[in-house]
Amino acid sequence: MSRVALVSGGTRGIGAAICLALKKEGYDVVANYGGNDEAAEAFSKETGIPVAKFDVSDFEAVKAGIEKVAQEHGPVEVLVNNAGITRDSTIQKMSADQWQAVIDTNLGSCFNLCRCVIESMREKGFGRIVNIGSINGQAGQYGQVNYAAAKSGIHGFTKALAQEGAGKGITVNAIAPGYIETDMVRSVPENVLEKIVARIPVGRLGQAEEIARGVVFLVADDAGFITGSTLSINGGQHMY
Ligand code: NDP
Repeated sequence: MSRVALVSGGTRGIGAAICLALKKEGYDVVANYGGNDEAAEAFSKETGIPVAKFDVSDFEAVKAGIEKVAQEHGPVEVLVNNAGITRDSTIQKMSADQWQAVIDTNLGSCFNLCRCVIESMREKGFGRIVNIGSINGQAGQYGQVNYAAAKSGIHGFTKALAQEGAGKGITVNAIAPGYIETDMVRSVPENVLEKIVARIPVGRLGQAEEIARGVVFLVADDAGFITGSTLSINGGQHMY
């Protein structure tokens, strides 16, 4: 019987690649998304992967969304907390809304989703959770106090929840991607991007599939001894 996997923000970019890689491995995958219906419909039509629209920053919406997924597919056994946004600005120009949106969508979502799947995972004695952090949560980044704080929070959240899940067959790990060629990175000005690529030892941006490969590894049934870890997938950038 295939395991039920939910990927937040699974209809575009890294999340879409994760969904496809999990489907290829035989998981019963559901892709969550927040608002871009056009992209979600195109993704679902092309891949045959069902989509579930709910705002991961809103606890009640997540609760209802997870209940619907459970009714239609069964309880979520594999959760990938991937949805994320940026609202970049230096702190003196950053609005409270820019701060809060990034904290709620990137970090609050991890609480919301984990809180809504953890009981069924504990009952089952099995669960796999992967949280998508960022190299910028490890090292910080100019113009991203909101994003770096949220992503850094994800790394602490991962280690705390890993300790709670360890005796119940639930592993919780993080992946810290470097710069990956998605819409999020395409919105970075070209001159800034050139400087970023110059600092990546392998000399190029990463591909979404290269993050998906790490997820497939961490969620496998026989990966039960890996928990509380952060896998850096960044072309070697974390060494500098
Ligand atoms: P994209 O912007 O390409 O895709 C983001 C996805 O998240 C979309 O599916 C979007 O849905 C969804 N989403 C955003 N807000 C919400 C919300 N409130 N509720 C539900 N879904 C939401 O992002 P990437 O693929 O580039 O990034 C994926 C993750 O990887 C993020 O957490 C990001 O921070 C992280 N990351 C990315 C890096 C990169 O270089 N790209 C580097 C390091 C980390 P919709 O289509 O409806 O908007």
